[in-house]
Amino acid sequence: MKFDTLVIGGGLAGLVCGIRLQEAGQRCAIVSTGQSALHFSSGSFDLLGRLPDGTEVMNPLEAVARLDASHPYARIGAEAIVRYDGEFRRMMTRAGIALTGDAARNHYHFTPMGTLKKTWLTFEDFVTPEEPDRLPWRRVVIVNFPGFLDFYTKFVADEFEKRGVICTLETVKLPFIEKLRVNPTEMRSANIARTFDKPEHLEMLLDGLAPLCRDVDAVVMPAVFGLSSAGPMTTLKQKLGKPLCLLPTMPPSVPGIRVQQQLTRYFVRLGGAFMLGDTVERADRDGGRVKAVYTVNHGDIPLCADNYVLATGSFFSRGIIARPDSVYEPIFDLDVHYDADRSRWYDADMFAPQRYMTFGVLTDPGFRALCKGEILSNLYAVGSVLSGHNALHEGCGGGVSVMSAMCVAESLSTHK
Ligand SMILES: Cc1cc2nc3c(=O)[nH]c(=O)nc-3n(C[C@H](O)[C@H](O)[C@H](O)COP(=O)(O)OP(=O)(O)OC[C@H]3O[C@@H](n4cnc5c(N)ncnc54)[C@H](O)[C@@H]3O)c2cc1C
Repeated sequence: MKFDTLVIGGGLAGLVCGIRLQEAGQRCAIVSTGQSALHFSSGSFDLLGRLPDGTEVMNPLEAVARLDASHPYARIGAEAIVRYDGEFRRMMTRAGIALTGDAARNHYHFTPMGTLKKTWLTFEDFVTPEEPDRLPWRRVVIVNFPGFLDFYTKFVADEFEKRGVICTLETVKLPFIEKLRVNPTEMRSANIARTFDKPEHLEMLLDGLAPLCRDVDAVVMPAVFGLSSAGPMTTLKQKLGKPLCLLPTMPPSVPGIRVQQQLTRYFVRLGGAFMLGDTVERADRDGGRVKAVYTVNHGDIPLCADNYVLATGSFFSRGIIARPDSVYEPIFDLDVHYDADRSRWYDADMFAPQRYMTFGVLTDPGFRALCKGEILSNLYAVGSVLSGHNALHEGCGGGVSVMSAMCVAESLSTHK
């Protein structure tokens, strides 16, 4: 099998890269083991919320100039980030995904606890308040389903009340959700969302909500609507008759899974080959070039391409793996940045920036991967597998994935 570009990993970075290349007329394949960080998404993509020294960032574009040369954004540059910001939002619209926000100014979005956090782009499911200390409602009702433990109504009410909002807590008992409760492990957001794919179930929910929302300015609920399309959420918003404020739940993330599915469907619609449930295990090299990769499902059949993009994620997706004394990249044995002294990997204060979060593969300025100090001329690395950033501390995870993927795809489609 021969492709122009073969992408390894079908999370946010791999999909954005593959879509951008397919749209530019390339023949692409994505091989992906399974779930990605999108399944755990907060419902927002972060670009840059904080500098490594802890300085808070409101304008990510201005702050990029203050990052160290090893940071992926320093290699991309603010000018290209502005361009990719617009291109990415238009790509998402073509894929059917509506987002709020832009790179010039962070906005605020709700966390599952009801606190507010700075971010770049937020999925349409969610409300994005203008100010962190004021909410646009005087009185709300916070509604949950009995037995759904991944939505903490009391914490949410505490946070809202700190901002002067009067909260009432209610539950709506629905027979089809009660069926899930028979086995408590089934009471998860994704399973609840599946029940609302039936229009009659949404109608039953609306009937249950009607008496609760008479005297309030907004209804607050967990984001458990629309696993494969935004349809159920849109219907609910239209028919409720009051503003609906959905809050992210504990994982799995229903809007995140939907984004993963919509991007995958769009890539396939563009003619891309998506090989889900397959894992790249090893590669053949010819000097400084990758010749072919081999997967679990294809056995000895080589998958060949002019260029390869490594988008296998960080520790979480096994894009890099920690041994007791080292960190390695399992497919190509690429050069990985990590600290030789293991005691420096972690900080005992769990809220401090953790150094292991900055570990990842090393590349040249154009994101070509390095192996034993040598550049592999047709292997690029994108997304959270890259070293030099701390997605959690800096609030830059989604942005690094999108920007590095756009950057590599642009260079591969220009030079073809
Ligand atoms: C739990 C969690 C939640 C996060 N939430 C947010 C958030 O809300 N907002 C935000 O901005 N950032 C968030 N981040 C940061 C996140 O890393 C990025 O936003 C981004 O989604 C990462 O995308 P990625 O494609 O680089 O990696 P991943 O999403 O990890 O995807 C890597 C993919 O590669 C596949 N893979 C791995 N090895 C192989 C192989 N050998 N062969 C084939 N496929 C392989 C995996 O199965 C996976 O599908 C989160 C990170 C984590 C870990």
